[in-house]
Amino acid sequence: MVQVELQEAAKRGAQMIELRLDFLAKAPDFKRLLANRPSAMVATVRRPADGGRWPGTEEDRQMLLRQAIVAGFDWVDLETDVAEEIRRFKDVKRIISYHNLREVPAELEEIHEKMCTQDPDVVKLAVTAQRPTDNLRVLKLLQKARKPTVAFCMGDLGVPSRILGAKYGAPFAYAAFNKERGIAPGILSYEELKGIYHYPQINAETRVYGVIGDPVAHSLSPLIHNTAFRSLGINAVYLPFRVPRAGFETFLKELDHLPVHGYSVTIPHKEHAANIAAEKDPAVELTQAANTLIRGENGFVAYNTDYQSARDSLLTNLPPGPDGQPSTLQGRTVLLLGAGGVARAVAHALHREGALVSVSNRTPERTQRLAEEVGCRAIDWAARHNVVCDTVINCTSVGMHPNMDESPIHQSLLKPGLMVMDCIYTPEQTLLVKEARNRGCHILTGVDMFVRQAALQFQLFTGKEAPLEVMRKVVRKALSPLNLRDEA
Ligand code: NAP
Repeated sequence: MVQVELQEAAKRGAQMIELRLDFLAKAPDFKRLLANRPSAMVATVRRPADGGRWPGTEEDRQMLLRQAIVAGFDWVDLETDVAEEIRRFKDVKRIISYHNLREVPAELEEIHEKMCTQDPDVVKLAVTAQRPTDNLRVLKLLQKARKPTVAFCMGDLGVPSRILGAKYGAPFAYAAFNKERGIAPGILSYEELKGIYHYPQINAETRVYGVIGDPVAHSLSPLIHNTAFRSLGINAVYLPFRVPRAGFETFLKELDHLPVHGYSVTIPHKEHAANIAAEKDPAVELTQAANTLIRGENGFVAYNTDYQSARDSLLTNLPPGPDGQPSTLQGRTVLLLGAGGVARAVAHALHREGALVSVSNRTPERTQRLAEEVGCRAIDWAARHNVVCDTVINCTSVGMHPNMDESPIHQSLLKPGLMVMDCIYTPEQTLLVKEARNRGCHILTGVDMFVRQAALQFQLFTGKEAPLEVMRKVVRKALSPLNLRDEA
């Protein structure tokens, strides 16, 4: 079994494979294993205190490490507190490691300094991020390291440091071939590190972009932007930054050191992003919410690409008028469901285009507030089925994964010829979209708007036209029902 997995890992491109002996019920026959090694092999026997599963005594653990060294592993991982008890043997290389499952300790630099004196070939520091800015702490250490060092934060807050090691000189990164085994908190899969973040292409010149939000773990933005960078040969990487509500400004300030050239901004920071910006585009002035921040000379410039993408998506996809001419939004009667972030952008954009918008939201105060802000009609949530309209736009999260058997309106409202747009894109084929299609409505899914808002961001990030079709294709593939089922 181990042999099969090693061959598979090498086939997929791994140049160095760590064998976590603490995960195996019984140590394999080293001689046989190493005779067929497909790439350089690292022997590691991690203790529970360091995040491992070794069940035996410390004496037996060190014995196993010595056996692995003598058997001819290419590398051995030795924790800093035992490094001096196990001497260098022949040409077996040494990773001297330190793990901290609680925090990034105040004395991290001193610990690193001492490890540099323990005859390492590589020093490894795996610490736990308590706040998003901890990433910066380990990256700064990496930048100054006088010995080859792999340093990163564990946990989902620490994902950026795992990827940016390549920019700051880390000789390699850790990735899992099977994430479900729970090898280490926050570890990316080999496919993610290579396929989404293009880790081997990251170097000192790579520009950094990212999405700030909470949560961001399942965001499709890293996939869509990194794919677009790669397809145009742009040396840039786009990362997920999980930043809790209270940490937004501190995060932006501290990350100035990196720097990050542009951010996508998502829940819960869109209003905050608009407030801190030095300059705002008209859509941000209007909606008081920003989904994009671009680093400028005097601070961040804020944009709201949801606003334009909603407008563009509808205009491009409206059926032509009776004269065969492209339709406009002028005079269209729109029932807009929801009053959250996306509803606000869509309501302002359509109102500006001359549409007659009626807003209906579950919480009446929010319906009222949005209707007053935009200057449109407010409809009671219970009365939403009585509205006469030619367009329905769902801006609520009703029907979103995992509640895919819900729809924000009863299908009796769905008449042939009605234009139905669902902003939800996870899944693309929501119950509302399916019912609308079955009843002869014109349908527009949230994928089109999502791809357009990302493409507009990409243009703001790079000054280049976005590869719209490439972006659309990679999102559709990621959203295929098969992948969503895997995630559930
Ligand atoms: P948000 O600010 O949290 O707003 C959520 C909206 O959904 C609110 O109006 C909320 O009503 C309503 N809602 C939630 N649960 C409900 C329920 N059980 N019954 C009735 N109404 C309910 O979120 P958002 O940023 O506007 O996002 C909304 C949806 O749009 C999400 O699915 C998001 O993924 C999608 N989206 C798509 C794009 C795109 O580019 N396609 C862009 C952004 C967002 P209350 O006010 O009563 O809570």
